[in-house]
Amino acid sequence: MAQQVKRAFKYRFYPTDEQAAELSRTFGCVRLVYNKALEERTRAWYGEQRRVSYVQSSAALTEWKKTEELAFLAEVSSVPLQQALRHLQTAFGNFFARRAKYPRFKSRKKSRLSAEYTRSAFKWRDGKLTLAKMTEPLDIRWSRPLPGGAEPTTATVSRDSAGRWFVSLLCEDGIAPAPATTNAVGIDAGLTSLVTLSTGEKITNPKHERRDRARLTRAQRALSRKEKGSANREKARRKAARTHARITDRRRDFLHKLTTRLVRENQTVVIEDLAVRNMVKNHSLARAISDASWTELRSMLEYKCAWYGRELVVIDRFFPSSKLCGACGTVAAKMPLHVREWTCDCGAVHDRDVNAARNILAAGLAASACGDGVRPQRESSRTGRSSMKQETQRATAGIPRL
Ligand SMILES: [Zn+2]
Repeated sequence: MAQQVKRAFKYRFYPTDEQAAELSRTFGCVRLVYNKALEERTRAWYGEQRRVSYVQSSAALTEWKKTEELAFLAEVSSVPLQQALRHLQTAFGNFFARRAKYPRFKSRKKSRLSAEYTRSAFKWRDGKLTLAKMTEPLDIRWSRPLPGGAEPTTATVSRDSAGRWFVSLLCEDGIAPAPATTNAVGIDAGLTSLVTLSTGEKITNPKHERRDRARLTRAQRALSRKEKGSANREKARRKAARTHARITDRRRDFLHKLTTRLVRENQTVVIEDLAVRNMVKNHSLARAISDASWTELRSMLEYKCAWYGRELVVIDRFFPSSKLCGACGTVAAKMPLHVREWTCDCGAVHDRDVNAARNILAAGLAASACGDGVRPQRESSRTGRSSMKQETQRATAGIPRL
């Protein structure tokens, strides 16, 4: 059962000079409209004990725009100005209900500079946000993606005192709460399979990948044969880049499906920290792609666990997951990469990857139970938690306030 959840996601962005000028102008107008409306309401309240409604303020705004001195208000998007009046309305509502003090004026120096755009004042297409009165979309740094299918209903742009620009997107997404479960899974990152689960399931690379990779190798070889600076080389470069982009797109799609499934099916997900692998010098394409996938898989698990309230445990990279016998706890002296199956002295026969995944799961559960344990990478387990905290903070930050 999908439940509509409102959440705000905040990102940095880098405006063009034109966009910065437009936004600064809008911030100024928002502040002016808010203060002017507050002034009128104050006069009405203290002078005549009369309450001014939002509709009356809005009508006043229309009149201001017609005057010579305030005609510039008509040049910026009208939505942030209307939103400022709505915020003022809320502030008065709180005041009359004795929940808050009398609304205060926005000072030029102390107030947060911001402008709120509702759905009619921005375009959201293909993950790009274009605000009213602008021709280009904002150059947003997507530090993490919006949840799949999330559509922003409100975009709040702000600039902090350090001159950094932010956009907060309030989304109503239909993320279904993950079904309650006590399942836990250990994941071993493999070479032959993409990942092996402690359940024994092996997840192989997407089947088109081998073909795509061959295509990429061909494209890169063709590129290296072309003369530098030539038109043909540029053409070959573009072709190689396109092939590469297709591989990563398909890969990402595959990883999204996999990680969503793992997170939905399990309360606890245990992985190994494999950063050390990148230090291994190996220039094979398969290797590079596999490492990139692992990094991506891990980051997807991190944010999806946070979204669904699941626990991600990252165990230490030096944990001997492959060499340890899951049955008796003996650690084998050596375990060369080509060994796919082995028999322990205790008689247990192991599939290398499944055994490793089970060991990872056991180590992760021990670590999670005592909050420490097998030198779990504390930093990353904390990352998971703190991003959840941020989520809550952002959720409240998304509730209109000025
Ligand atoms: Zn054994």
